[in-house]
Amino acid sequence: MFASVVLDIATRALDGAFDYEVPRELEAECVVGATVLVSFSHREAVGYVVATSAQPPEGLNAARVLPVLRVLAPSAFDQVSARVAFWMAREYACPPCEALRPFLAPGQTVRVRRASADDPWELVCQKSGPVDERWVSLAEKGGSFSPRANAVRQRAVLQALESGPMRMAELAATLPGSTSAVAALARKGVVAVTERRRVRGGETTTLKSAVAARPEHLTQGQTEALAAIARACDAGRGDVVVVDGVTGSGKTEVYLDAIERVRAAGKGALVLVPEISLTAQTVGRFRSRFGDDVAILHSRLSAGERFDQWDMVRQGSAHVVVGARSALFAPLRDVGLIIIDEEHEWTYKQESAPRYHAREVAARMAAERGCALVLGSATPSLEALERCREGTWGGVSWTRVSMPERPGAARLPTVRVVDMTEQFSGGNRSIFSAPLAEALQDVAAKRQKAVLMLNRRGFANFLMCRECGAVPECPHCSCALTYHERTHSLVCHTCGRSWPQRAYPDPSTRCPNCGSRYLAAFGVGTQRVEDELAMLLPDDVRIIRMDADTTRGKGDHQRLLEEFDAAECAVLVGTQMIAKGLDFPEVTLVGVVNADTTLKLPDFRAAERTYDLLEQVAGRAGRGEEPGQVIVQTYWATHPAIRAVKEHDRALFVEQELAERRDGCYPPFSRLSNVVCWGRREADVRRTLDDVARRVRERVGEAAGWEVLGPTDCLKAKVKDRVRRHLLVKSPVGSEPGPLLDACVRAAAPPREVSVAVDVDAYDMM
Ligand code: ADP
Ligand code: ZN
Ligand code: ZN
Repeated sequence: MFASVVLDIATRALDGAFDYEVPRELEAECVVGATVLVSFSHREAVGYVVATSAQPPEGLNAARVLPVLRVLAPSAFDQVSARVAFWMAREYACPPCEALRPFLAPGQTVRVRRASADDPWELVCQKSGPVDERWVSLAEKGGSFSPRANAVRQRAVLQALESGPMRMAELAATLPGSTSAVAALARKGVVAVTERRRVRGGETTTLKSAVAARPEHLTQGQTEALAAIARACDAGRGDVVVVDGVTGSGKTEVYLDAIERVRAAGKGALVLVPEISLTAQTVGRFRSRFGDDVAILHSRLSAGERFDQWDMVRQGSAHVVVGARSALFAPLRDVGLIIIDEEHEWTYKQESAPRYHAREVAARMAAERGCALVLGSATPSLEALERCREGTWGGVSWTRVSMPERPGAARLPTVRVVDMTEQFSGGNRSIFSAPLAEALQDVAAKRQKAVLMLNRRGFANFLMCRECGAVPECPHCSCALTYHERTHSLVCHTCGRSWPQRAYPDPSTRCPNCGSRYLAAFGVGTQRVEDELAMLLPDDVRIIRMDADTTRGKGDHQRLLEEFDAAECAVLVGTQMIAKGLDFPEVTLVGVVNADTTLKLPDFRAAERTYDLLEQVAGRAGRGEEPGQVIVQTYWATHPAIRAVKEHDRALFVEQELAERRDGCYPPFSRLSNVVCWGRREADVRRTLDDVARRVRERVGEAAGWEVLGPTDCLKAKVKDRVRRHLLVKSPVGSEPGPLLDACVRAAAPPREVSVAVDVDAYDMM
């Protein structure tokens, strides 16, 4: 038997598979998807079997072929997945081993390594051990025990346990040296260590809305969507259905019913949701319908949990996979349906190699496996809308089904746009316009709930000198530093460095550029909104803040949502992360503090992103019996994206936006690739990228629809002391920029100190 093996050596020079002979004793294990050890140019290398055959492959000298040395891990993917991986490698210009990695078992990667050139190669298995499920709690006599004066760690452990038991792993992570302290205390009988058994990765929640009760009647939109999905499933060739349903129209119910049908036919389903809306609420809805048949995969799970969930799918004991982007690669055998919820979300594009877009890979997989693909959103991407308008795309049909209404009594909220320039000239210097302040007080008086969103992506919350206009930047990354009011510090969110800094009116403030004392905060942060809210509202209103700072820990996100759910009257303040997926029927008011910060980003998708975000967050209001109200504060009230949200009329935005994209030849009317080059020495970076650019121009020549822009400095011209330049390449829809750009980068042979990344269908152009 012979095996075709892709070596795990990530270099553009190795773009194919190599053939090896399988020794008789390994034949049973050495199947497609297995990880194997082979020798390659006088060393040992790890590789993945992508094909096997009984005959020696053509042109192979059977006498000289090397044997497979060992099988390191059982199969993680099948023949179809291997084909999809090869397509990804070509499409996204990366080596095949990089395209195969997402398909491997989480935490089970094996590599060969040697300490120095003289040492032998050794295998390093990054195997995930069992999850530490030991809990530590105070024993009865714990209260009276007092550790020796110098037993600082024991003291710290006891203090931490005062507020309740903790997991050993958590203690060890937060209190260095606590493992031995716990052991000492346990010997004295002061603390107790107990094992608690739990299915790894199985989450529970108290959220009321985490149960998907089966509705009595489906809405007309839901019935139509299900019919279209059934047709796509039966066609069996990868047809795509875009479920274009307003927020709260019951898309999840459509997914659940569609999966039920697929399960009844003995097949499984992959469901992708954006990482941030992969909350207990979402998971609970799937669990309440499919129970233990559901596997959950996302990055907040520990390595062990992720492996357990993944393995349940491989073993065939779970047939519904719900997860973030990477769940697309789960080893589900008989896939009947792939669902991507919030299809427009830009987190579906992976920003490190392989730089794939989940929508495109899913479409390819669906075609390869002959199953249906469902894309759901209240604001479908312009790509999806345009393909549906065309009707067929990539050889399969693209159908849009609209669900314009919410079921039952729920109505779409009314949207009010407040022009903040008018507020300012009218003398209002507060974060809250008069209408928003009144509406918040009204919510407090009626004992209801509100959600306040701060559009933080962009340049909000930095310091700016009112005299010379200087904005403190990170000297290593050339990007504006974020000001943290409570800790009086400037933080670089690119490299994580921070500096102490006080802002005006503190007397010690000095502008780093001109020495002026008017270095003041510009834009607002969630903390400031929280503070001002506390002043505006009576004390008995719960204010819950949700942003990157308050959701660091594993369960924080869910805990805050549960608090909001349980509160009688509350305001949830947060960044973009609160815009998606939350379903709280008691929310009657949604406020957007600053709608337009994302409009000003230098990115052709800026308006689309702003529109999506506003429409999503507006959708959090009025999901119950009480009517909802949305108040949007903006300095740009006439922008089509803002007007479209106000009028609940997507056409106001989409038509103008599509016309502009067509004129400028931007996606969806072209493909846009970004070639980024970075390194410590600017001269090297320039030389390398200039060389790549020259080769691309040579190859492209006068070809219609191709355009090469640059090279120029990236907007983030320096990150972690690396100089960054880039080249933008536009090509026609249906062209294949991947192989061309890959060939040009290879031919330019970048020196060791310079990195080049090819990002096909780029989303992040900064
Ligand atoms: P979307 O994902 O489209 O924003 P959801 O799936 O969260 O909407 O549904 C919104 C709410 O409507 C949920 O509480 C859900 O249980 C409820 N719902 C869905 N379909 C129906 C129906 N046919 N009849 C009554 N309620 C429904
Ligand atoms: Zn930095
Ligand atoms: Zn200044």
